[in-house]
Amino acid sequence: MKTALTIAGSDSSGGAGIQADLKTFSAHGVFGMSVITAITAQNTQGVFGVQDIDPSMITKQIEAIFEDIFVDSVKIGMVSKIETIESVYKSLSYYKPKIVVLDPVMVSKSGYHLLQEESVNYLIKYLLPLASIVTPNIPEAEIILGTNICTVKDMESAAINIHKMGAKNVLIKGGHLKGDSIDILYDGDIFTYLHQDRIDTKNTHGTGCTLSSAIASNLARGCSMKDAVKEAKVYITIAIKHSIELGKGVGPTHHFY
Ligand code: PLP
Repeated sequence: MKTALTIAGSDSSGGAGIQADLKTFSAHGVFGMSVITAITAQNTQGVFGVQDIDPSMITKQIEAIFEDIFVDSVKIGMVSKIETIESVYKSLSYYKPKIVVLDPVMVSKSGYHLLQEESVNYLIKYLLPLASIVTPNIPEAEIILGTNICTVKDMESAAINIHKMGAKNVLIKGGHLKGDSIDILYDGDIFTYLHQDRIDTKNTHGTGCTLSSAIASNLARGCSMKDAVKEAKVYITIAIKHSIELGKGVGPTHHFY
């Protein structure tokens, strides 16, 4: 069986983070494993607290997995602190997994900073070069580059510039622009455009986590990068169309088996 590992934060309400990743891996028939970087107390209405896991414990979790099990792909999500990034970087540089999907999680939809501001440069310097693909949304790409992104042309330039920072493939998610959503995949040579009519729902908690772990699952199963992203986009679109009216706030997406 193919395996995928998520290195990310826990969402107590099960819609985002580690929990969304593991549900997505299972839905793709991939055996999911997890290294927890932080525990969040959150629900559909917001994040109410974060406890970062001690970096030595993050290193130990990664070591325990890689010393025993072959990892077909790794997905990195919430990494929060500089020390967390350092321990993930050191461990992955040692074990050298072939596929790394980096979701540069920064701020939750409810406005909570899941990546500390002083950690952004570390994420850029250490984790971007490890990435087979990085999947920023527009606000994340703006923070990585320090520029505004207002048009599809801006998204293309952003993809080129993030590629120059070391990520082998860049997927800029255009959901924050007005109108129908367009995502752009750039492999250093060719742009692939993924169009999608906007889905009318407020329940989009965990969509970024789900998309990146769907990409990691498809890559673990041996898909090409382009097919992995296209199929993940189909998966997240169906998951959003069938999102769940759970809790009082922004509900989670649905994972199909
Ligand atoms: N909580 C955790 C632990 C996450 O990793 C993420 C991922 O981006 C979120 C929350 C964000 O969820 P939301 O889709 O509500 O922004």
